[in-house]
Amino acid sequence: MKAVNPRTGEADYTFSAALAKDVAREAERLRARQPAWEALGPEGRAKVFLRLATRIERGAQGIIDALAIDTGRRAIARIEVEGLARSLHKWAQRGPELFTALSSGPAPSATPGIEMVPSFSAYPLFGAISPWNFPVVLSHIDAVPALMAGCAAMVKPSEITPRFVEPMRAILAKCPELPFAYVLGGAETGQALTGAVDYICFTGSTATGRKVAEAAARALIPANLELGGKDPLIVTASANPVAAAKVALRASIVATGQACQSIERVYVARAIAEPFLAELVRGAKAVRLTDPDSASGHLGPFIYAQQAQKVAAQIADARTKGAKILTGGLVEHLGGGAWLRPTVLTDVTPDMAVMREETFGPLIPVIVFDDLDKAVESANASEYGLSAAVFAGSLDEAEAVGRRLDAGAISLQDAALTSMVGDATNHSRKGSGLGPSRMGDEGMLRFLRRKVLICQTGAPLPIDAYAEGAA
Ligand code: NAD
Repeated sequence: MKAVNPRTGEADYTFSAALAKDVAREAERLRARQPAWEALGPEGRAKVFLRLATRIERGAQGIIDALAIDTGRRAIARIEVEGLARSLHKWAQRGPELFTALSSGPAPSATPGIEMVPSFSAYPLFGAISPWNFPVVLSHIDAVPALMAGCAAMVKPSEITPRFVEPMRAILAKCPELPFAYVLGGAETGQALTGAVDYICFTGSTATGRKVAEAAARALIPANLELGGKDPLIVTASANPVAAAKVALRASIVATGQACQSIERVYVARAIAEPFLAELVRGAKAVRLTDPDSASGHLGPFIYAQQAQKVAAQIADARTKGAKILTGGLVEHLGGGAWLRPTVLTDVTPDMAVMREETFGPLIPVIVFDDLDKAVESANASEYGLSAAVFAGSLDEAEAVGRRLDAGAISLQDAALTSMVGDATNHSRKGSGLGPSRMGDEGMLRFLRRKVLICQTGAPLPIDAYAEGAA
């Protein structure tokens, strides 16, 4: 298979895709190594995590360089790699604490004479399938807590962004205790992985998530799905319009809008709509592309050229249906890559694709509202329920509105905070996901199966216990 450099448009990286038989062989190897890993105990695993974190810190530049080619961005590449090392540190500490909290002696049952002794064991083989928008973060965000729980882990990164795997494999080779492996490839490799593991975490589009959930249902394994979003931001009449516009801009164009929790719909109160839009357009025009100098600017190219076409189609659909484009709106081809400056749209209506479908690009459609209740209703009228945001004149007011929004994580007086707050337990709703939280302690606890030893401390039940007429 080949991967494309998003800055040059050249398919200049070749890698071999794992076939179903390769995935099966890797799964077998990992399963064989898992019992020893689990037997190390949480403290032993924490030591390995800390060694791996140090190696990643030392080898960070190699991973960052590879990731920067895949994604066309350097600053976020650094944040991703440093974040991986931080997450190993975090789980090296939190994992053993959680295991200590779980270990309890026998507890009396409500059933007379019975005592219960709980025990916990990891799903033997964990699998993850990840997308291209944050390749390093999303390939490890579930795998690290799964490994801490005691699972072996097999991860399939996106075939669009495979370059970071090579330097990571070199680092992992120096941590032989860790039962962890990457398998590279596309949909077929993903299908094979889903069929080979005991627990699957999928991050990606809602359409593919459904397929993975169906396959997991057939295999009778748990599936955690983290899927698409169409996050709304509500700006109330009491908000500072300039501050709100700055937040709206940053949260909409972060990572060129290629973030599941980027703001994709803005609802602003009429009383402040004019200064809000003026600042939004001013700020949008001031955003600099990271071209030609990749080391300076705010906005990188689309990682995946086909995504640019999807976004252009949404702009065309909105234009045809009467939307006004206040700035941006044209996909540019620079140096072989596809780019789009922040694009502010007004006069948008709920029937437009830009208000219904996930965009994954730097579009900011703005709806002006007169009635806050109707704005809340519109924000909630979406197939998605990943996250949302509220900007108001006070935190109290923002909280009151936030409580009414139908999503898993609500940022108040800011936006798109979800991914930055690793301890914020939350559940994605509707088409945005399924299953326990990847954030917070649940991030690890979900990988532990509970077993209970039921101890009879009195006389064993006699045969008459269930006999007819014995009462
Ligand atoms: P995608 O669904 O096209 O692909 C995701 C992964 O699934 C890739 O690794 C791909 O190879 C694999 N895959 C494809 N078909 C498969 C199949 N039938 N069985 C198993 N695996 C298969 O998604 P994408 O375009 O790479 O990523 C963008 C999407 O990811 C957006 O919708 C975005 O919102 C979502 N996303 C969600 C979160 C979240 O936490 N909720 C985070 C980041 C991205």
